[in-house]
Amino acid sequence: CGIVGYIGARQAQDVLVSGLSKLEYRGYDSAGVAIQSGGGIEVRKKAGKLANLAGELAAHPLSGTLGIGHTRWATHGLPNDTNAHPHATEDGKIVIIHNGIIENYLSLKAGLQSRGHVFKSETDSEVLAHLIEEKYGQVGSDLYEAVRLALGEVRGAYGIVVTHADHREIVAARTVSPLVLGVGEGELFLASDVPALLAYTRQVVFLHDGDMVVLGDDGFRITDLAGNALQRSIEQIDWDA
Ligand code: GLU
Repeated sequence: CGIVGYIGARQAQDVLVSGLSKLEYRGYDSAGVAIQSGGGIEVRKKAGKLANLAGELAAHPLSGTLGIGHTRWATHGLPNDTNAHPHATEDGKIVIIHNGIIENYLSLKAGLQSRGHVFKSETDSEVLAHLIEEKYGQVGSDLYEAVRLALGEVRGAYGIVVTHADHREIVAARTVSPLVLGVGEGELFLASDVPALLAYTRQVVFLHDGDMVVLGDDGFRITDLAGNALQRSIEQIDWDA
């Protein structure tokens, strides 16, 4: 339902919680964040109000300057802690958040299970984590390429954000579900809707259907799903915050 991502110098936890709070108006049943921290990725997720998660994060903060966050509106699987996003691979290295519905997830899941993948949740979304992990092993540890190839096998609607413990980058893509890139000074943001960004930047790129974007410390690049570079203009928004 709601997506926020951050890479920069700030503590990601603060940006994610504040951004998700600006998306609460859309409705949701659970919330979660993943933050790169000390060479790994820490995931915290909880059913219920964002305040539950925010309270736990305030009591036991996650330190790190790259992170992704989600408010879930369940379509496949009960609204509980396990089905909340983010979803991680078994080794915890690849972490994904997904908005929308993967229509062919049952057949993808059966194939992945037959190749040894063990699923934790009942969601359609979790197939993305395992599919990306499989591709990652085939393309020489290139996260962007792994996500691109995985998306070539899914049918449905998605806003997806992905990170990997070994790469300081976020890879994102959208088809049908919205995604906006926020461009700051030495920092970048992602969100499913503009209100999550307004406290941080007014420079935005509205991603188009079929766009992929890679966010790193040196900036961002946008491509189509075939891997071709795209130019998208940065727009200045002057909404009242
Ligand atoms: N289909 C996914 C799920 O049920 C994502 C739902 C959403 O867009 O929040 O977990």
